[in-house]
Amino acid sequence: MFLLKKRRTVTLTATVAATVTAVGFAFASRADYLSLEQFIDNGRAKNVILFIGDGMGDSEITIARNYSVGAAGRLALDTLPLTGEYTTYALQESNPKLPDYVTDSAASGTAWATGSKTSNGRISTTASTDSDLKTILELAQERGFVTGNVSTAELTDATPAVLVSHVSNRNCQGPKDMTSCPQDKKSAGGPGSIAEQSVDHGVDVLLGGGKQRYDQIIDGGRFAGKTVIESAQAQGYQVVTDASGLQSAQPGTKLLGLFNSGNMSLEWAGKPAVVYPGNEPQRCREGLRPSNEPSLADMTSKAIELLESKQGGQRRFSQKTGFFLQVEGASIDKQDHAGNPCEQIGENVAFDQAIKVALDYAKTHRDTLVVVTADHGHTSQIIPNPTQTAHSPGKYSTLITADGAQMTVNYATNLSDQSQEHTGTQVRIAAQGPQASKVVGVIDQTDLFHILARAIGAE
Ligand SMILES: [Zn+2]
Repeated sequence: MFLLKKRRTVTLTATVAATVTAVGFAFASRADYLSLEQFIDNGRAKNVILFIGDGMGDSEITIARNYSVGAAGRLALDTLPLTGEYTTYALQESNPKLPDYVTDSAASGTAWATGSKTSNGRISTTASTDSDLKTILELAQERGFVTGNVSTAELTDATPAVLVSHVSNRNCQGPKDMTSCPQDKKSAGGPGSIAEQSVDHGVDVLLGGGKQRYDQIIDGGRFAGKTVIESAQAQGYQVVTDASGLQSAQPGTKLLGLFNSGNMSLEWAGKPAVVYPGNEPQRCREGLRPSNEPSLADMTSKAIELLESKQGGQRRFSQKTGFFLQVEGASIDKQDHAGNPCEQIGENVAFDQAIKVALDYAKTHRDTLVVVTADHGHTSQIIPNPTQTAHSPGKYSTLITADGAQMTVNYATNLSDQSQEHTGTQVRIAAQGPQASKVVGVIDQTDLFHILARAIGAE
């Protein structure tokens, strides 16, 4: 029935028509088949849920899939019907006309958060000239959307920071961390650290790690002498610090959840990658996250619950104005840097479980745009199992997958005793819901900003 409703009002391009036809064949048997009208460019989304797998390039996805469900299995993130690739390069700080081919999370996050590329290390400010760039979360707030920002990293880490702050350097996370951005300090008349700005932005739901930043003392402005947490409470935030506090949090106030002093605890563990002759093939140890810390899926579920109740409760918005939520699986990247395949895969699987929460929500809220993507590629690669005469000069670990086969994961983008590096590859972007057709093909990271902006009616 839904096919009849809008079809005559839209013009399909050849590409989209072909894609929709292909999707129709591929998914026609699914009970939860999403309506055609949502695949095509028919305008506004009520809600937007943006998932960022930090460092989750195609090889990280493939490694997690092979290990957890087997080579022929599919993760939740594999089921999004429309998929493209986007380029992720940054700009050079000293000459912003030239690309920096390997981005960090700050520059790449700035690209989708603002629609403008910048140089590595910058948080929603311009390369070289240090001007503030308006963010998609700020646009959503202006249009009446309630907003949420969830991460397994510190909430002041680059990916959550790009939505809610403008500083010249990603290290300026708390009021005492401002050595790299003295001009941004509150005592210098600036907007303050990332932690201060995240609270001052009035984001409705903030969940993640990084309590150490919010325990620091503010050095200027109307909350001088108070901690960032105290300033949050003074601005109407309920503050929770463990899983049970999160579970019992009620709608009606803004919520700041800080569940670890630093990054949140990891889900899995195992033996690290090492150079040849390596370790015995391994299975990972699972279920290691302490129970007082919520999972990413728990945080996503609660964020959606609170944001949805807020939009329908005390605030009265138009029918098409719901919530904007970003969810980051942060430690895929951090464990990739460290060359820890089990920890990396565990975080990728936990991220996938959070995506499943959103996809289940979207089954009954089909005017929700769900986007799943990464900020940049990373080091881990699946390579042939090593032999004495043929093996990587880097470090590696061989895992026993869900197929019962051996898979060797290699880390060789830096010296083996150093932090492994990001890569400059394009990465996957997948979507469903309004505007989702725009991710198809090869686009750029800045295009995601415009997709989101059109979905919330800002363009
Ligand atoms: Zn990284």
